[in-house]
Amino acid sequence: MTELLKFNWRNLFLGLGCLLLVIACNSYNPSVNPSAKTWKIATDPTFVPFEFQTPQGKIQGFDIDLMNAIAKVSGFVVQFESMPFDGMISTLQAKRVDAAISGITITAERLKTISFSRPYFKAGLAIATRKDNQDIKDFNSLKGKKIAVQIGSTGADFAKTIPNAKISTFNSGPEFFQDLLNGNADAVVSDAFATLYAIKNGKINGIKVVSELLTEEYYGIATPKDSLHLDAINQGIATLLSNGTYKQIYQKWFNIEPPKLPESL
Ligand code: GLN
Repeated sequence: MTELLKFNWRNLFLGLGCLLLVIACNSYNPSVNPSAKTWKIATDPTFVPFEFQTPQGKIQGFDIDLMNAIAKVSGFVVQFESMPFDGMISTLQAKRVDAAISGITITAERLKTISFSRPYFKAGLAIATRKDNQDIKDFNSLKGKKIAVQIGSTGADFAKTIPNAKISTFNSGPEFFQDLLNGNADAVVSDAFATLYAIKNGKINGIKVVSELLTEEYYGIATPKDSLHLDAINQGIATLLSNGTYKQIYQKWFNIEPPKLPESL
């Protein structure tokens, strides 16, 4: 016992080692510690085919494959954390996660409070109606109609610009499509790719997409404002674009050639 209390170099090093470990563990703060190896990534797995759950509860999708591939080339491990889309921006602001990937459109409004990676997906909004609907064909025919949207989405922002529209908001895609099918809503304004995919793959029936794209949007991986992780994420995307992995993931989910992406917006 007295041996232990006596000064010796071995005890000093052990003590210092423990102290450093404690400091390292306590200082985990995603936005200031880019060397942390496991990154918490928020996602809302209700957005087929970008992020959704298998009947066994496994999260999969285009975004999931892309994020895992970025992690692989940039040398970190991903831990996905499911949460409702509407809460994601405030979760990022509070730095409770390292990043979020969830088909999040890069917008000027969002850039005021969070940061985005370079664009990783070209997207846009479209109008969907029940298959038997004949009168809704374009933006003008939405005037005064009942529109269902997802809370906090770019579709919800767009719906606000439709004159006299009666807007109802829902937490996720499956819910607003149900509202349309029930006959409560006349139309839905939502992300075209996700809607078209859900229709084509039988995830939703009795619905059609009408009109051309209403907007041109790009998805980005969102982080807390000016996160030190952004460099690694951007370099990861650049690597996957140049080494063919991005194209491979794109074709796996969409069966078509990916469009060219701008480096920034
Ligand atoms: N792209 C849309 C947005 O950013 C919707 C994304 C989603 O529903 N996951 O608002």
